[in-house]
Amino acid sequence: MKYYSTNKNAPQVSLQEAVVKGLAPDNGLYMPETIKELPQPFFENIGNMSFQEIAYTVADAFFGEDIEPDTLKSIVYDTLNFDTPVVHVKDNIYSLELFHGPTLAFKDVGGRFMARLLGYFIKKQGQKDVKVLVATSGDTGSAVANGFLGVEGVHVYVLYPKGKVSQIQECQFTTLGQNITAIEIDGTFDDCQALVKAAFLDEELNRKLNLTSANSINVARFLPQAFYYFHAYAQLAKQGKAGNIVFSVPSGNFGNITAGLIAKRMGLPVKRFIAANNSNDIFYKYLQTGEYNPRPSVQTIANAMDVGNPSNFVRVLDLYGKSLNEIKKDISGEWYNDANIKKIVKDTYGETGYLLDPHGACGYQALTDELRPNETGIFLETAHPAKFLETVESITGRQVTVPEKLQAFMKGKKRSIGMNKEFAGFKQFLLK
Ligand SMILES: *Cc1c(COP(=O)(O)O)cnc(C)c1O
Repeated sequence: MKYYSTNKNAPQVSLQEAVVKGLAPDNGLYMPETIKELPQPFFENIGNMSFQEIAYTVADAFFGEDIEPDTLKSIVYDTLNFDTPVVHVKDNIYSLELFHGPTLAFKDVGGRFMARLLGYFIKKQGQKDVKVLVATSGDTGSAVANGFLGVEGVHVYVLYPKGKVSQIQECQFTTLGQNITAIEIDGTFDDCQALVKAAFLDEELNRKLNLTSANSINVARFLPQAFYYFHAYAQLAKQGKAGNIVFSVPSGNFGNITAGLIAKRMGLPVKRFIAANNSNDIFYKYLQTGEYNPRPSVQTIANAMDVGNPSNFVRVLDLYGKSLNEIKKDISGEWYNDANIKKIVKDTYGETGYLLDPHGACGYQALTDELRPNETGIFLETAHPAKFLETVESITGRQVTVPEKLQAFMKGKKRSIGMNKEFAGFKQFLLK
């Protein structure tokens, strides 16, 4: 399968090149040349399939031409050594819990898949010394770092905004050591993302170093996120409740929701999507006005969605031929400020006993606000509430039990390198 750039100003490339390069040379994002529709019998039988079986079928549609079946199967099965259960919350609203992986956020799926696929390509090419750059608003860094931890030939640099990720998130990528280096940027997530992009566009760096990106701009990270949309559908289909499904996706960089849109293109019977934002309501405003006005991100308690210029917006545009009308047929938008989010977490816990994290809270509330009686709503619970311990405990006034996996990270010693947001300093550091 070939991959083209959304800017249409760069040659098409192979999967391997798209994964290794991350960003296209014209600054566009790679998209698969074709999105295959899966056959009807697959959807008829999906309720009887395991998550891994479903995911392998989906993965095969994208990667099957480029990777031998056995290898692809082991990458998929290895990636998904945890479940993504659909849990009933109230009425016709369900939570797709994506926090059962090693770092307790949905990014484990893409992070683990990409680490394995890139590891495979690096080995095949006999490459050494690949530098993976990743900007994080909180959860990407840990998922990618843990996915690549100890992988030979790869060094990961995690760039994160100083003082803008939760303590627990921070310890998940600053305590690992080995082939992981954490870089604390005096700036915002957008500054971190800009540094990574600048590195890819820098001719000297690319000549001297093997650079790749592990942000959701990378096809190996964003496409596998389609897996759990199918799995969610399968779980409701089994209960006879899969009619008129609405997915509500807490969104920042829009990688997660784009994977859902792709799942729909592959034939997954989804009625529509809701993009749930925090105060960084750039996409919401776009749907209202037709104008896309990126602006500096503001800090919120749903910090992993503090994105002022969502990278994957261009993929959404590309999927819908840049037509606002077509986009609006499939996606609506909602947004919630911090005060709203706190009230949602508190009220939902009181009413249903279900503890939302600040991101999932936006997804949940968007369903509560929009869902029609004949629809079934699934919101993506993108991280475990314990990742935002102080916030969630201060809202509910109750202690949150911290899962053991998370406690283990908190015992490590923080190591990170401080830097300002100027590219020159970052570049010198990489060249050293
Ligand atoms: C990354 C993240 C999001 C946003 O996902 P995008 O793919 O960037 O839109 C939402 N919630 C949590 C917990 C995250 O870590």
